[in-house]
Amino acid sequence: MRLSRYFLPVLKENPAEAQIVSHRLMLRAGMIKQAQAGIYSWLPLGFKVLRKIENIVHEEQIRAGHIPMLMPTLQSADLWRESGRYDDYGEEMLRIKDRHGRDMLYGPTNEEMITDIFRAHVGSYKDLPLTLYHIQWKFRDEVRPRFGVMRGREFLMKDGYNFDVDYESAMRAYDRHMVSYLRTYERMGLKAIPMRADSGPIGGDDTHEFLVLADTGESEVFYDAAITDLTLGDRAINYDDAAQLRAICDEWTTPYARTDETHDEAKFNALPEASRRTSRAIEVGQIFYFGTKYSEPLNAAVQTADGEKVPVHMGSHGIGVSRLLGAIIEASHDDKGIIWPEGVTPFHCGIVNLKQGDAEADAACDKIYAALTAVGLEPLYDDTNERAGGKFATMDLIGLPWRITVGPRGLKNGVVELTSRRTGESVELSPEEAVKKVAEIYAPHHGHAPGTEPMAGRSFHTWL
Ligand code: ATP
Ligand code: MG
Repeated sequence: MRLSRYFLPVLKENPAEAQIVSHRLMLRAGMIKQAQAGIYSWLPLGFKVLRKIENIVHEEQIRAGHIPMLMPTLQSADLWRESGRYDDYGEEMLRIKDRHGRDMLYGPTNEEMITDIFRAHVGSYKDLPLTLYHIQWKFRDEVRPRFGVMRGREFLMKDGYNFDVDYESAMRAYDRHMVSYLRTYERMGLKAIPMRADSGPIGGDDTHEFLVLADTGESEVFYDAAITDLTLGDRAINYDDAAQLRAICDEWTTPYARTDETHDEAKFNALPEASRRTSRAIEVGQIFYFGTKYSEPLNAAVQTADGEKVPVHMGSHGIGVSRLLGAIIEASHDDKGIIWPEGVTPFHCGIVNLKQGDAEADAACDKIYAALTAVGLEPLYDDTNERAGGKFATMDLIGLPWRITVGPRGLKNGVVELTSRRTGESVELSPEEAVKKVAEIYAPHHGHAPGTEPMAGRSFHTWL
C-alpha cells in the first residue's frame, strides 16, 4: 500500500478522552473512531489488525478440530425465556422489538442459540464430540464502557461451544480449548496466563480466564512468578492426544494463579516470598465447563450407546477478539507509539523514502516494494512529500515492526537502512539483502515446528 493512496487519519495531539495508552494510541494511529459510547468504527488500519487477530483465532480453532460457522447478532427473546436467562441477564442486554411487537435482543453471547441448533439436528452420541464456534459481534450495555475497545458495548468475540456425551469427554474439550488458547495468544506475541476464575452469570463449574498482565487491567491477579516462564514454543501439538493436552494443562494450572474472585490467601502465602506476585491484568479470554445447565432446560439430549437419552454436556469458550488489540498495545508500546508483534502487524514492513521525487530514491523504493510484494508481504510505502522526521514519527506511531529507509545518500553507497521498531537498531544493507532479511523474518517456518506455523499467505476466507 502506498500511503498517498491510503486512509490513515493520524492525530498529532493526544485525544483528551483517552485514559489509557492503548486507547490513546489507537485513536492517534487512526485505527478507530468512536461512533457512540463503547461503539467504534474500525478504520482501515484498525480493521486490518482486527482481521489478522481473527485469522489467528480461526487457524488455531480449526487446528484444534473446532468447526467455524456464523450465527446472527439478533436473537429471539423466546429462546432466552426457555433457558430462564431473559430476565436474569438484566440491563446489560439490549432489548429490541420488531414491527410486530416481538421481543428480540442483540446477542451478548450464544449459548441458547447454539443449543437450539444442536437439538434440532443432533440426537445420537455417534455425532459427538462436536465443537462449533463463530466470531461475531456482541452487544453488552456495559454500565461503564471505557478504555476504547477494551471495554466496549459492541465488541467482537470468538465464542465456541462444545457438546459431549459425558463429563470425561467434555473435559477433553476443556483441555483442547485451553491449549488452543495458549497457542493463539502466543502467536499474537502475548503472554496470557490461565487463572482459575469465578463463573459469573454464565454459570458453571470449571472455568479459567486468560489474563495479560498490565497496569491498566481491570482485574486483580495473584500468581506464582514461575508461571510467566512457561511457553508452548515449538512444541508440536496433537489435538487427538488427550494425554498430551492434559499434561500441558497440568503444567499451566499447577503454579498458583488466580483472580481476586478465587484468590486463596493461605495458598498464596505458602509460596516462597520471592515467587509471590500480584498485578493488574486484562482478561482476554475465558473457558467454561457448565455441564447440562442449558441442555436440560432446552432439551438438548443424545442417545448413548446403551440407548439411554441423556442431556448433553456443554462448555463455552470465549476470546475477546476486539479487546485483544488494546491488550496487545498495552503490552507492546513505547513513548513513540505502538510496537506490533510480527504475528498481527497491519503491514509487514514500512518503506520510508527520504527524498520523494528523487528519481533514484523513487526507483529504489518501487523496487523494494515490488520485491516485498513478490514474496507475499505487504509493505506500507510512505511516498508522501512529508519531511523525514514526520515520516519516521508516523511509522513509529503505527508500530510496524520493520522499516526500510531509502535515501539518495545511502543509495550512492549501494545501501538502505533496515530498522527494528522494537530495539531501534539499524543495519545498512543492499536493497536486495534488506528484502531478503525481512522475508526471512516472516517466512512461514521461521522459528516454528511443522504444524505450529501460521498458515502463511492464506487468510481464513480462502481456507474455511
Ligand atoms: P468482563 O469480566 O471483562 O466483563 P466477561 O467475563 O463478562 O468479561 P466473557 O463472557 O467471559 O466476558 O466473554 C469472553 C471474552 O470477551 C472476555 O474474556 C473478554 O476478553 C471479552 N469481552 C467481554 N466483555 C467485553 C467488552 N465489554 N468489551 C470488549 N471485550 C469484552
Ligand atoms: Mg469472562
